[in-house]
Amino acid sequence: MMTPEKRLFFQKQLLQLYNQYQRALPWRAVDVKPNPYYVWLSEIMLQQTTVVTVIPYFNRFIKKWPTITHLAHATQDEVFHLWQGLGYYQRARNLLKCAQVIESTYQSVFPEDLSSLLSLPGIGPYTAAAIRTIAFNQPETVVDGNIESVLSRYLCFDGVFPKAKKQFSGEISEIFQVAKPGDLAQSIMDLGSMICKPTSPSCTDCPIQQKCCAFASKNTQNYPKKAPKTPKPTRYSSLFWIENNKSQVYIRKRTEGRLLLGLMEFPSTPWLESNQSPADGDIKVMHTFTHFHLILEIIKTDAVPVWTQGGFWCDKNDLENYAFPTVMRKVIRKISDQY
Ligand code: SF4
Repeated sequence: MMTPEKRLFFQKQLLQLYNQYQRALPWRAVDVKPNPYYVWLSEIMLQQTTVVTVIPYFNRFIKKWPTITHLAHATQDEVFHLWQGLGYYQRARNLLKCAQVIESTYQSVFPEDLSSLLSLPGIGPYTAAAIRTIAFNQPETVVDGNIESVLSRYLCFDGVFPKAKKQFSGEISEIFQVAKPGDLAQSIMDLGSMICKPTSPSCTDCPIQQKCCAFASKNTQNYPKKAPKTPKPTRYSSLFWIENNKSQVYIRKRTEGRLLLGLMEFPSTPWLESNQSPADGDIKVMHTFTHFHLILEIIKTDAVPVWTQGGFWCDKNDLENYAFPTVMRKVIRKISDQY
């Protein structure tokens, strides 16, 4: 339970921690006003992705598109090309749409109010709260994975995530009522990432150990409480590596479904849970998406299957200039390892 004493202690310790030891991250402002474009871009990239992975992507993006206006004038292919490898490509689609709306509707100035932020493509309640808190210093309740870990342990919060998220937000909302809510939110994120880590919290180094409920009850491993994950199904497909005698490979853009829409691929049969592959090839590539595992059996041929359309021949050396998702990059690596 969050008593006033416990809340004040938490706020004081965390703000002090941020002043002394905040992580130097390229999207963070030190002694200047935060840049909403950087905050938004980093928050979108950090969804389901670690800080270490995001840093080089973030740096490449702001080098190519230093402002939201520059990004608004990019093409979808250019954005995909710089995004490839980060996964969850719907984020890259919404990123461009959002930049275009901000340019056309808000004259390239990020809106500050919650309802305008929530109306933008790709911005949900978490991202809107994070932008308002970090970029505009407004006391919203921000709940990401790190904040969930730290505060559910600090309070011995017994609700089970994700169902209990709303109740949790209600219980911790008062914490963000400080003069610098952005610093506080980022400090909790730092603590969750460096000290109160999901599987092995380093309680001896923790500045809030003195009042941490999970530490006092020797129960840190039990928080946050999570619903068991449902196992992912496996899908199968035959993928055709079609190469002619000019060292060109047949590629095409994905035009159907939402998954990987607009990215490049090698033709393949539908990805189905029953294995109906026509041949038993020994070159396989495995990849895990959010909701399923995929096993691709690679068939090498020089003939374009009759059912394949809309593609074109690409020099093998030019493949790197196209936006392929990670699963297709794995195929390219596998083929070059084999031949
Ligand atoms: S004392 Fe341990 S469990 Fe509690 S907040 Fe600190 S690191 Fe996390």
